[in-house]
Amino acid sequence: PILLRHRARPDRLVQILREVQEVADFISDETAAWLAERLRISYAQVKSTRDFYAFFYRENRGRYRILFSDNITDRMAGNQALFEHMLKRLRLEPGKVSDDGLVSVDYTSCTGMCDQGPAILVNNRTITRMTPRRVDEICDLVRGKVPLSQWPAEFFVVEDNIHRADMLLGTPHEPGKAVHAAIARGRDGMLGEMKLSNLRGRGGAGFTTAVKWDACRNANGDTRYIVCNADEGEPGTFKDRVLLQSYAGRVFEGMAIAAYVVGASQGFLYLRGEYLYLLPQLEAYLAGMRSAGLLGRSIGGVAGFDFDIEIHLGAGAYVCGEETALIESLEGKAGRPRVRPPFPVTSGYMGQPTVVNNVETLSKVTEIAIHGGAWYEAIGTKQSTGTKILSVSGDCERPGLYEYAFGVRIAQVLEDCGAQEAIAVQISGASGVCLSEREFGRRIAFEDVPTAGSFMIFGKQRDMFEVARNFSHFFAHESCGFCTPCRVGTSLLKNIMDKIADGRGTQYEMNELLRLQQVLKPGSHCGLGQTAGNAVADTVQKFRPAYERRLAETDFVPAFDLDAALARARELTGRDDAAAHLGEEA
Ligand code: SF4
Repeated sequence: PILLRHRARPDRLVQILREVQEVADFISDETAAWLAERLRISYAQVKSTRDFYAFFYRENRGRYRILFSDNITDRMAGNQALFEHMLKRLRLEPGKVSDDGLVSVDYTSCTGMCDQGPAILVNNRTITRMTPRRVDEICDLVRGKVPLSQWPAEFFVVEDNIHRADMLLGTPHEPGKAVHAAIARGRDGMLGEMKLSNLRGRGGAGFTTAVKWDACRNANGDTRYIVCNADEGEPGTFKDRVLLQSYAGRVFEGMAIAAYVVGASQGFLYLRGEYLYLLPQLEAYLAGMRSAGLLGRSIGGVAGFDFDIEIHLGAGAYVCGEETALIESLEGKAGRPRVRPPFPVTSGYMGQPTVVNNVETLSKVTEIAIHGGAWYEAIGTKQSTGTKILSVSGDCERPGLYEYAFGVRIAQVLEDCGAQEAIAVQISGASGVCLSEREFGRRIAFEDVPTAGSFMIFGKQRDMFEVARNFSHFFAHESCGFCTPCRVGTSLLKNIMDKIADGRGTQYEMNELLRLQQVLKPGSHCGLGQTAGNAVADTVQKFRPAYERRLAETDFVPAFDLDAALARARELTGRDDAAAHLGEEA
């Protein structure tokens, strides 16, 4: 039935693998070979796709696969103690399956619940606000082999936590109003309003949306596509989660308007795997839009305006947030970024002209359709028009969403969320910029501090070295391995940070950290590698004492500890006298 539902389309491979794993718990080599035959693609392609994504398993990982979100904000909320507590209760080792094959417990990257962490995933279902008591309850349910569908509903509650609403979050959505307003303006008229609005992409890069749409519209191709990038994987970001949970109509209507302007007939919502819990309600919303004539054929009675939307789920790969990696994933492959040019607007999904826009960007299109570009352009600053939604987390009294007109000062956000004792803010996630107290007068805007939305706050009790170390582990884990500067550079960065944490770092390592940044930035193929050293470089510069107090008082300590590496040999030979150690007389 899974293959039938997906019409045995190879481009649906990621979805097929996900659904097969739901039933079989893992995807064995035999299953991969069987799928290759049925889909008429190579065994190597199925294996390479399976092995690329963190949420696909080639071996049994247990009927219950528990993953602890491990963003720095989860750590600040105590996830490590809860992790240890669960391992103890279940008598498990980290990442190992229990002897009876029932359960495994491990860490994963940020799951997008930083306002209500610590969070975990159980078979990709989100559970927030973990406590020791909740760990005990989950252990009892697992040991009792209670199906996930019968676990208490309150475990799975995900709150919106909207604390400041403006143009987007504060306006009720009237279904169909934006699409009909766009149709009334006509294709050229709507594009004209988009140009007037100067709306820029909210995914981080800040590219002008109308320019993208115009390029796609004018590109040669048989079919055009609209892709909504909801692979919200940047640590500390969760605004798209809320938009999809409570404002899905805006997102989908934004996609329909984009399709109307560029002449696209098919849309995809690429939803990060961690947001699986949203899938049923989003599918139901799309069904409602079809019934209301807002999707399907001749939308709004316009001949030729035919458009529909499919939802694709990701499977735990941060790099798929990069638009060409996302397109590869949509085509059923490993999500490795493509060489650009050509850009997706001329050669995207299946080689056809494709617009890829962020969830928040598309939501804002609905307001421009209704109120016009001039109205939108008057909000914010000259180069950064409109509003920006910030995902605020960390050391503050009220974590959650805050929507501001562009130009708001960092200090204002800190005051609004109750973060009087902040010493640093990490803006735009692990790949962004770390601001210290003396920079809190700066503004959120493309011309000053640009952001995709993440706003992580660190109070005076925090150790900024550990913050940067957490990010260095994140990038080493998420590097797709395609290009050498990133593959090797992110691992070196992580190893050096660990060496300093162990008290074995010296001034030599401090210089190496900055030197690595000079290799990663210009030499990496995509944004992941190019930004992987940002947090380390920023904290070395702004919080240097946090590094220096860990340094060993020598000029150089080798990265490889030969004596420690010989410990296993000493154990095997039963010899651990002084002469069996390096530097001692034999
Ligand atoms: Fe992959 Fe890193 Fe290279 Fe990007 S920079 S393609 S994530 S190895």
